[in-house]
This record gives sequence, structure tokens and C-alpha cells, in this order.
Amino acid sequence: MNLQRVAEKLGITVDRLESLQETKVSKSFWPEPQLLRFDKEISGIEAGTVIFESGEIVWGYPRIRRPLMLEAAIKGHFIDSVAVEEKMNGHNVRITSIDGDIVALTRGGFICPYSTEVATRLLPEEIFEELPGLVLCAEMVGPENPYVSSEVYPTDSIDLYLFDVAQKNRRGTYGVYKTQEIAEEFGLRATAFFGEFSLKTAHQRIREIILKLGRQGREGVVLKDPQNRVEPLKYTSSESNCSDLEIAFRYYNDYAQDFFLSRAVREGFQSVEWKETERKRRERARRIGESILLPLIETIEKKQRGETITQRIQIRVESLATARGFEYHLRRCGIRAIFDQPLPEDDGYRIGITKIIMSTNDKTEALLDGEMW
Ligand code: ATP
Ligand code: MG
Repeated sequence: MNLQRVAEKLGITVDRLESLQETKVSKSFWPEPQLLRFDKEISGIEAGTVIFESGEIVWGYPRIRRPLMLEAAIKGHFIDSVAVEEKMNGHNVRITSIDGDIVALTRGGFICPYSTEVATRLLPEEIFEELPGLVLCAEMVGPENPYVSSEVYPTDSIDLYLFDVAQKNRRGTYGVYKTQEIAEEFGLRATAFFGEFSLKTAHQRIREIILKLGRQGREGVVLKDPQNRVEPLKYTSSESNCSDLEIAFRYYNDYAQDFFLSRAVREGFQSVEWKETERKRRERARRIGESILLPLIETIEKKQRGETITQRIQIRVESLATARGFEYHLRRCGIRAIFDQPLPEDDGYRIGITKIIMSTNDKTEALLDGEMW
């Protein structure tokens, strides 16, 4: 790897790159190709940025900030209009081609063997032949998403939706229109586009969109400047906040405290901004309350019956090597998972997986035994 060139592309000195390599940046040896991984943001370089052996860089996908008051944030943040896209709930992948092979990177900058197999299956082969420098930023969604499983999208397995495009060795992404262009050219699915609205009316339109998405169990929207001049913002439905709470309280000791608080606070601001009626507020309160208490009680009672707190997921793979690779990948991410015997199908295997939710398990058991909180 030519350190001088890599440092230049990153916008740091070679000395700095060398010292980062020794301290802050991790090496990932597997699967091939090897890469250097920025697991945290350092020197202004996005978390999730990776440098491949070849010296090629894929920048981390930038964080998207979230306003709690839509109207005020839109008017303060955007310039003249705002493009509204669906925010889909799955996991973020950056897909590119390195030495002729497709790789799918997770948010943190690991090559995920499962996501890579899915991407290779779903993408047209010619895409990276025609555009070798392309990086596709996509959300993988569906019931067979082992990170964030969701039944609300039109697939019974896992699908991929493009939401942005970028270029290797180049910082930043290209935004809404370029993404639509690439999606159209190669016949890829892209996240739904709801339109471009003026700053005056956007918050009202978005409220209607969010209410409708919420009723469908969908997550929310990402607001983007049509010309990509300012960073995007995200905003979610109450139903999605609550379904997050439902999962988090089921596995309450495995989530950071802020996960719970931030979602509760969002609900308060949304109710105020939308000037809800007393009846709507009570409905919301009940929805939040149920999503907190019911899964929590289920977890406690499950443990009381002597059962283990687990989460069942399922994946489908074409090759058993992918499954073994994915098993290793989960382990290196600190997730304890037990893979069932693979069930052969027409064009691959179906595999059930049991994730063991360690911390919630231990904590609940201890509390049931009379330990102090
Ligand atoms: P963040 O660091 O951005 O807060 P997070 O993991 O907490 O990341 P989310 O709250 O899910 O993420 O919001 C950002 C993510 O939303 C993006 O990284 C992307 O994976 C996903 N996403 C889904 N649909 C879109 C879309 N249309 N445009 C941009 N991102 C989208
Ligand atoms: Mg998400």
C-alpha cells in the first residue's frame, strides 16, 4: 500500500497515518481482501471508513442527525426546498467492487459475508464493470435480515434498496438525483421518493407522510437537499419509535440507556408539534406504555420459567461457506449466536439462528433471585 497516496486521499500526513495505524485503526484480515478500519471517527475521518490493501478507500456513511421539531428544523436547515425519501429500517451496507469481487461493508467497516452474498445475488453483474469506482449505499431489509428483521417490506427474504451513491477514494456522496439515475439505469430498487417540497409546506406534507408510514408499520423519512448542499436529516413515526422500544425493553439490559430516553422524548415533541387532541395523546401514551411494559414482563416471566432469553432469526444462503463466514462475523461483533443444522432448499440452505441475549439474561436472573438493581 502506498502510504503517501493513501494519506493524501484521507487529507492527513503520512506520519499521522502511521501513528493511527499503530493505535486507533484496526486491521481486518478476513474475509479477503484485508483492510484497515476506522472504527471511530478520528482526525475528521468518518467512522466506518476502510482502506483496502490496494490503497482504495471507501468512506464511512455519514451520520444523519435528527430534529425533534420538524417545522423549525426544516426552515432553519434547508435552503429552498427539501426532497423527502422513505427511511427504511434494516442495515446500512456500502457495496463496491474490489479486485473484481463485490464486497458489502457494514456501518462499522467490516465485510459482512452474508450481506456480500445477498448483494452479489441481487445486483446486476455489469454494474461494477461499467462503473468500477462506484460505491452503492443501500439498506438491506426484510424478515431474513439478521441484524434488524422486519416483516413490513414486500419480500419474504431480504432485499436491497439504494439510497445514495458514492465513489471510491472520494469523500461524500452524490445525493438524490444521481441515486435515482443509477437505480434506473441498472434496474435497482431505490428507497421511495415522496417528492420535493417548499420550505413553507414541507412540515405539513411530512406529517401526513409520517402518519401514513406509521400506520403501515414503516420507519419514517430522510429529508435531503435536492442539490446535496446541506446534510440530510431523519424523522420517524411514533409506531417505529414504539417498535424500537418494544425490542429494547424485551432485551432491556443489552441496550444503552439513551436508546430508551431519546425515543420517549421524541414522542413528547411530536405530540406537541402536531397539537394532538387529548384522545390522540392518550392513544400515544397507551402505545408507548404497552411497548415498554408488555415485552419487559414477557422477558421476566420467561426467565422465571427457567427459559433463556433469546431471539430467533433466519437466513438463507447459497453456500455453506457464507453461513460459516457469517457465524464468525457475528462472533467478532460480540454477538453470541447458535446456528441450527442447515436445511437444504432448491438453491441453497435455510438456517435458523438463536441469538443469546447475554446481559439481559444474567441481569434478569439475578434480579429474580433478589439482587439489587
Ligand atoms: P446514524 O449514525 O446515522 O444516526 P444509525 O445507525 O443510528 O445511524 P439510523 O437512525 O437508522 O441509523 O439512521 C441512519 C440510517 O438510515 C442510514 O445510515 C441508512 O442506513 C438508513 N437509511 C434508510 N433509508 C435511508 C434513506 N432514504 N436515506 C438515507 N439513509 C437511509
Ligand atoms: Mg436504521
